[in-house]
Amino acid sequence: MRKGKIQTSTDSPLYSRRSFLHQASSCSAYLLAAFAAGPTLLRRAFAASQKYDVVASEPFGRLEQVADGVWALISTPQSGRETLSNGGIVAGRDGVMVIEAQYMGEGADWLIAAAEELTGRPPTHLVLTHYHADHSWGMSAYARHKEPPVLYTTHQTRDLLTASLEGGEREMPGAEMFASATMISAAGSQERVDLGGRAVHIDSRAGHTPSDLSIEVDDPRVVFCGDLVWNGMFPNYMDAIPSRLTRQCRAMLGDPSALYVPGHGGLATAEEMQPYLALLEEIGRAARDAFEKGTPASEAAAEYSLPSSLGEWTMFSPSYYQVAFEAWERELSQ
Ligand SMILES: [Zn+2]
Repeated sequence: MRKGKIQTSTDSPLYSRRSFLHQASSCSAYLLAAFAAGPTLLRRAFAASQKYDVVASEPFGRLEQVADGVWALISTPQSGRETLSNGGIVAGRDGVMVIEAQYMGEGADWLIAAAEELTGRPPTHLVLTHYHADHSWGMSAYARHKEPPVLYTTHQTRDLLTASLEGGEREMPGAEMFASATMISAAGSQERVDLGGRAVHIDSRAGHTPSDLSIEVDDPRVVFCGDLVWNGMFPNYMDAIPSRLTRQCRAMLGDPSALYVPGHGGLATAEEMQPYLALLEEIGRAARDAFEKGTPASEAAAEYSLPSSLGEWTMFSPSYYQVAFEAWERELSQ
């Protein structure tokens, strides 16, 4: 496949009051702050280095072939917002799984076209890891496809997405896919999907939101982490259950033979993800410390900065420490 040759159809994003309400409460709002932060920070944040052969590339993202039949989408939204999160394509003899529905229909169309071109067939499975707009709003492109894929998600993700739309004027485009979806049970359970000579495990987790899925491909082991894992960017704690987030990441990121596809940022090995684990632990330490002293999260966060030993983390807004400390305060107050 030549770079930049995948065609997309037109599908204007919907900026109704409803979509605004939804975006304001999700990772898309968090990431869209990057555009206000200025081009230098934006370029630095999304300049994650390429590790594998790039089979398709656009200003908003690139597809890297990480194994035979496995491609990772690394979102690099520097001038376009068609994709705001990472994702991927996993192909077997009998089926093609796409991970994440993407932010805009144009981004989803691009990934559908890439799947068809790379595998010779349209996506048969679609996994939505969590409800945030940057992962879910392109679902309309899959819903209107002549043979829509089977959606894999959870009841909680569907309900959180629906709740986030309340008060608006219109339905979320593509929401009809929930009616025929395979709903994976609550956190702790696992669904095995056989794509034909290619086994994929979908693990039900929680931490970034009350319901997060991760997707694991066997042999070679590739883990699509959803937004439980961020690489190089300070994570969004807006909906987080921080102790679970830390626990899940500790469990997920320990395999030296695995390749990790974070929700945002470049591909990484377990060793390369150790600074992220250290960051989660450090934020937890500082937030718990403040809580025990009775210091309000907003006050503690205003005085806080990450120790330089943790390396450089892109923050699109100085308020993100506060978001993290408040999430800890919420959990510890319960
Ligand atoms: Zn998210």
